Amino acid sequence: MLIVQKFGGTSVGDLERIQNVANRVSKTKKQGNDVVVVVSAMSGETNKLISYAEHFSQTPSRAEMDMLLSSGERVTASLLAIALNEMGHDAVSMTGRKAGIVTDSLHTKARIEEIDPTTMRAALKEGKIIVVAGFQGVSLDGNVTTLGRGGSDLSAVAIAGALEADLCEIYTDVSGIFTTDPRIEPKAKKLEKISYDEMLELASLGAKVLQNRSVELAKKLNVNLVTRTSFSEEEGTLITKEENIMEQPLVSGIALDKNQARISLMGVKDRPGIASEIFNKLAQSEVNVDMIIQNKAHDETTNIDFTVPKGDLHDAKAVVDAFIQTGDIKDDSYNEDICKVSVVGVGMKSHTGVAAKAFSAMASENININMISTSEIKISMVIDEKYAELAVRSLHSIYNLDK
Ligand code: ASP
Ligand code: MG
Repeated sequence: MLIVQKFGGTSVGDLERIQNVANRVSKTKKQGNDVVVVVSAMSGETNKLISYAEHFSQTPSRAEMDMLLSSGERVTASLLAIALNEMGHDAVSMTGRKAGIVTDSLHTKARIEEIDPTTMRAALKEGKIIVVAGFQGVSLDGNVTTLGRGGSDLSAVAIAGALEADLCEIYTDVSGIFTTDPRIEPKAKKLEKISYDEMLELASLGAKVLQNRSVELAKKLNVNLVTRTSFSEEEGTLITKEENIMEQPLVSGIALDKNQARISLMGVKDRPGIASEIFNKLAQSEVNVDMIIQNKAHDETTNIDFTVPKGDLHDAKAVVDAFIQTGDIKDDSYNEDICKVSVVGVGMKSHTGVAAKAFSAMASENININMISTSEIKISMVIDEKYAELAVRSLHSIYNLDK
C-alpha cells in the first residue's frame, strides 16, 4: 500500500516524540508499504515565529511571513529524515516546492493549484521514505507560500490525492471521531467509520477534530482519511465515501454549537424582494447567517427569525437598524442565550420518524424547541443554552449511541 502519514504539532512536540514518530514510520515501511510523511512544526513553534515577527512590526509583509513560518515545518521534516536514516532507512525530506506543490500567490493563505508528483514518485520508486514539510508550497513566480493556520492537514490530503495513495492517516492527540463530545457525554463512543458529508456536518457544528477544508478536499479527491492518535496503537476513525460504509447507522453523532445568537424581526413589510434586501445587506456586512424561519402574520407583514454566530451579532444589528429606520421592519429582538443541537446521520435518508424521535427526547426533558431546521442528513434545533448538555445527552441516548 501507499500510505501518507501526517503528524501534527503535538505528535512532533519534542525530540523524543519525533523519535516515536520515526519508529512508527519505520514500522509502516517495514510492513512493506510505501510511505510519504507530512509534518507540522513542533507545537508552539509557529506561534513563536509569529511573535518574533511582531517584535519588529505589527504589519510585516505577508511574503516575509511565509518565508519565516515555512521554516518551522522544515525543521521537523529534516530532523525526522535524519532520525529515519540513523535507523537504517533511506529517507529524504522535501520542501513544498520539491514535493511539487504549486499554489496561488495569496501569501499566508495560499490555495493549492496543482501538485506535480514526479519527484515524489521517483523517490518512492527508489524505495525512499519521503518526509514533506507541511503547510507550504511555491507560487508560480517562485515564492514560498503557506496555506493558512492548520494547513499541513491540507498538504497531506492533497499529496495523498496526487499520489493516489490508499490511505491518508492524520495523527493528532485525539484518538478519532466520537459520537459526541466525551466531555459532555462520557458514554460517547469512537466511530469506526463516517462519511465525508457527516464529518463535514459534525465539524461545522463544533466537533473540531479536522480542518473542514481538508475534509472537503478529501471528498473531492476521493482520499480515504483516517484520524488517529500517535500516542497509542489504538485504531482511529475512517472518513470515506458513503458507499464504502456497509451498515449505515441511523444516526452517527450529536453536535453542539453554543456560539449562536438568534435575531427576531417582527412586522417585516411583506412584499417581493424584502428578504433579498435584508439578507444581501447582511452578506455585504459579512454576517454569516445559518438557520432562517419566516412566518406570515395576519396583516400585511411577516416575521423572520434567523441565527448568526455571536461574534457577528453587532454587525447584524447595524444592518437591522437601518431597515427599522426606513419602516421596513417594525421591531426586533435578540437572544444570545441559545444553542444549536444537531443530530447527524446518513441513515436518515432512508428512515422515517428520526426527527420525531429527536422532538420526543426534548419533550421528555421538558426542553422547549425554539427553531427547527433539517437537511437530508441533519436535524438541528435551537434551544435555551442552559439545556445544551442535557439535550446532547438525551439525544445521544435516544438514538442508542452509547450502545
Ligand atoms: N504549523 C502550522 C500551524 O500551526 C501548520 C499546521 O500545524 O498545520 O498553523
Ligand atoms: Mg497543527
